[in-house]
Amino acid sequence: MSEEKSLNFIEEIIEDDLKDGKYNSIVTRFPPEPNGYLHIGHATSICLNFGLSKKYGGYTNLRFDDTNPVTEETEYVDSIKEDVKWLGFDWKNELYASDYFEQLYEYALKLIEKDLAYVDDSTSEEIALLKGTPTEIGKDSPYRNRSKEVNLQLFKEMRAGKYKDGERVLRAKIDMAHPNMLMRDPILYRIKHAHHHRTGDKWCIYPMYDMAHGQSDSIEKVTHSLCTLEFVPHRELYDWLIEKLEIFPSKQIEFARRNVSYTVMSKRKLLQLVQENHVQGWDDPRMPTISGMRRRGYTPEAFREFCDRVGIAKRDVLIDISLLEFCVREHLNRVALRRMVVFDPLKVVITNFTEGVEILEGEDNPEDEKSGNREIPFGRELYIEREDFMDNPPKKFFRLFPGGMVRLKYAYIIRCDEVVKDENGVVQELRCTYFPESRSGHDKSGINVKGTLHWVEQTNAITAEVRLYDRLFEVEDPSNEEGDFKDYINPDSLKLEKTVYAEPALKNARLEERYQFLRKGYFTLDTKDTNQRLVFNRTVTLKDAWAKEQKKR
Ligand code: ATP
Ligand code: MG
Repeated sequence: MSEEKSLNFIEEIIEDDLKDGKYNSIVTRFPPEPNGYLHIGHATSICLNFGLSKKYGGYTNLRFDDTNPVTEETEYVDSIKEDVKWLGFDWKNELYASDYFEQLYEYALKLIEKDLAYVDDSTSEEIALLKGTPTEIGKDSPYRNRSKEVNLQLFKEMRAGKYKDGERVLRAKIDMAHPNMLMRDPILYRIKHAHHHRTGDKWCIYPMYDMAHGQSDSIEKVTHSLCTLEFVPHRELYDWLIEKLEIFPSKQIEFARRNVSYTVMSKRKLLQLVQENHVQGWDDPRMPTISGMRRRGYTPEAFREFCDRVGIAKRDVLIDISLLEFCVREHLNRVALRRMVVFDPLKVVITNFTEGVEILEGEDNPEDEKSGNREIPFGRELYIEREDFMDNPPKKFFRLFPGGMVRLKYAYIIRCDEVVKDENGVVQELRCTYFPESRSGHDKSGINVKGTLHWVEQTNAITAEVRLYDRLFEVEDPSNEEGDFKDYINPDSLKLEKTVYAEPALKNARLEERYQFLRKGYFTLDTKDTNQRLVFNRTVTLKDAWAKEQKKR
């Protein structure tokens, strides 16, 4: 079944490295900064890292990149672990960059010993001023030629807490005329008297990204360190530090960030949406976070399929969210239990059905041979969807109208004999006849009808609340529009149906199950709001209504 796929560029690098004996096996890592919840972009990175190590028989570490004390929180660590597990991946080791602080400090000392780092007393403005520009070389800091001894002493004093924030930094001594601005004596350590979520008040100096990431990779013997394109200019420094420190040669490889249309991905923006109450939290089903999508009913299988189809690229791309929705629909079509739910009821009285109810059967899922049947009561009083009836129908209206016939799913063909209206002309009920010979699967009636409707029997119907979600933004790329991205929030991204009527089988709805409400979409129970009452979130519509809508404009 699986067709031969050609290797992507990362797989090519890995296979070459294995062939050349550069590495004996593959180790990757997923390195989130615990400063927010994971989103779809992270999900693709998770699938990539774990997918590669699995393919080549290696393993992946989960490493929290927690070197910035100010923004990180344990709440985020927990949610990240939950999300990775939910996507279906197991990490080999759970690690924290902050566990390496002592080792990183030793590395810094080693650089000073080798005369490859120095303490600079300049202010950040002075440092920026001497840095030059891409077209103009920089100038040496007046502190650049301090002796090793002085540098060692000052750096130790920095660690000991002798100086205030910003008073001094440790810089690499590379080349102030280097064409790559990042190689112009980059800052390696800064002073920050701040409480860290794991190391507490032990440290008041913290390594910069470049002094931490590659070294952590190396400590863990990560072979291929995958990151997004903005780190391309950092690669030279990554390699320089590994070479000068003479440590395990991890290799940085960059790939394009995956962004998805009709949403935003930056954690800073997602945080704004939460803090300013545009959504009801990080796991609001409209959020592009993994926790939000999980609550909305997306499945790990669909995510993994999506990541596979997206592949990897060397240029940033905006991926159409319809692709993710397509993957979700495809998976849900295979696993969802079929149920009937009427959102906007119109009463139907079956005049020739005399008494009680008849128990019919309906397949749980025609796409799944192993799925069973559920019981569906049929009776004298039913509900159909109001929009499925028209008094004066246009041509090709295959639903119900006066004198017209339709099939009720899993049940019988009915004919509309009489329309009962109130004094304002609003339809109150339809009086219909059913044809006992026409039962689904046993139809001997010889009647042909074009339309099939979903329905529920009134006395056994249960009620539920339904939440219909639409895209959170009205434009493809809100971050790229004029003005604030929040100006483009879709005001109709959530529509509530407070009371809908469902067939009784849904009484036992379970969180792990997925449902297809016939002709309505895919739904899942909400994880939060299920006290006493049933609340369903619409995961996705049955068809891509959005694409159609766009074409009309
Ligand atoms: P954000 O900009 O959303 O805050 P980030 O890159 O700062 O994201 P990290 O926690 O540092 O978030 O990311 C962890 C890993 O996930 C990194 O390896 C990063 O490259 C990857 N990643 C983050 N966003 C995306 C994305 N949109 N597409 C692919 N990979 C991503
Ligand atoms: Mg980051």
